[in-house]
Amino acid sequence: MTSKTLDNFLNGSILDLKQRGLFNEIDTVEGANGPVIRIQGKELINLSSNNYLGLATDERLKQAASEAIDSYGVGSGAVRTINGTSDLHIALEERIAAFKGTEAAISYQSGFNCNMAAISAVMDKNDAILSDSLNHASIIDGCRLSKAKIIRFEHSDMDDLRRKAEEARSTGNFNKIMVITDGVFSMDGDIAKLPEIVEIAEAYDLITYVDDAHGSGVTGKGAGTVKHFGLQDRIDFQMGTLSKAIGVVGGYVAGKSNLIDWLKVRSRPFLFSTAVSPADAIASTKAIELLMESTELNEKLWENGDYLKQGLKALGFTIGASETPITPCIIGDEKVAQQFSKRLVEEGIYAKSIVFPTVPRGTGRVRNMPTAAHTKEMLDKSIAVYEKVGKEMGLI
Ligand SMILES: *Cc1c(COP(=O)(O)O)cnc(C)c1O
Repeated sequence: MTSKTLDNFLNGSILDLKQRGLFNEIDTVEGANGPVIRIQGKELINLSSNNYLGLATDERLKQAASEAIDSYGVGSGAVRTINGTSDLHIALEERIAAFKGTEAAISYQSGFNCNMAAISAVMDKNDAILSDSLNHASIIDGCRLSKAKIIRFEHSDMDDLRRKAEEARSTGNFNKIMVITDGVFSMDGDIAKLPEIVEIAEAYDLITYVDDAHGSGVTGKGAGTVKHFGLQDRIDFQMGTLSKAIGVVGGYVAGKSNLIDWLKVRSRPFLFSTAVSPADAIASTKAIELLMESTELNEKLWENGDYLKQGLKALGFTIGASETPITPCIIGDEKVAQQFSKRLVEEGIYAKSIVFPTVPRGTGRVRNMPTAAHTKEMLDKSIAVYEKVGKEMGLI
């Protein structure tokens, strides 16, 4: 017999979420995740992926992955430290370090577990972490796992950061203090104020950690937000993911050799979880090589982002203060935002609503992620549907 307590908990909790309209029904994508996707047999223009450069379906990456499968098979066989490190993983890490302008890099199975791994390998209960209030869930969980004291500062508020850094330092209670931030904040598309963060870090002897999941491939001509500001030598952890603009799966930290050496002996997901497959490793390496050779995809991404932003703004939508191709369309009321997204989907545009608690209450929005793979026609159609649905719902 299975647990009655568990059943009661699950059934009660699911019902509660459903009644409050918070139970997320997940759509199944039939086929590849490209600029157009199929859901329940219907083709939709996809404005919801993080596949910024269209690399998830790139022929060159597919070719490299399929060759890797032919010669290496499909699995890595063991955790990295036992015998799961292949020359493909080493090549990937060398490419990441070159791409990020650091001495070395370490790769993980995902961006999420990279944050769980790296933060807790360095920080402990005698330390403190200054964390931006809008940081990603994986940063929050990584900080919690470390048992360090978490001190939240107001989103991108440098006076607040400085005050809290000063306070944390002056108590003398902490061995190490870290400041941690997203490079690009994915809900609004704004960029962290890294030059000021670095200055504050240097003034108060803080370890610096930038999660550039939405910056890599996007900002700094593709090399990321740290490169965008030219701060490669002044940021300790350049963390990123291989699952967004890079188009595959995995996470990494790039930094000095001593940091990477330490993470290889002390970060638990590296030690106790099998590495990404050979095909993943080589596809990611290939993607990074493409980005280092040419900025063509990156330029196309920004061009498309600007085009969509201009189009929606001209219609009278509120698109916030994004500094990247991420284009939120801020509606306000949560229910209206959800209804708006539903109507967009019915009209052939897959753009998802994002509401509290992912964003602050009263700032419900539909978030658009244009990519390098979208054509002008797709963006024009999207703008036309926004106009139709916006007028129909009295939003513009
Ligand atoms: C998506 C994301 C992650 C997680 O990356 P995955 O590779 O998908 O696990 C971590 N941090 C930030 C800021 C992200 O946006």
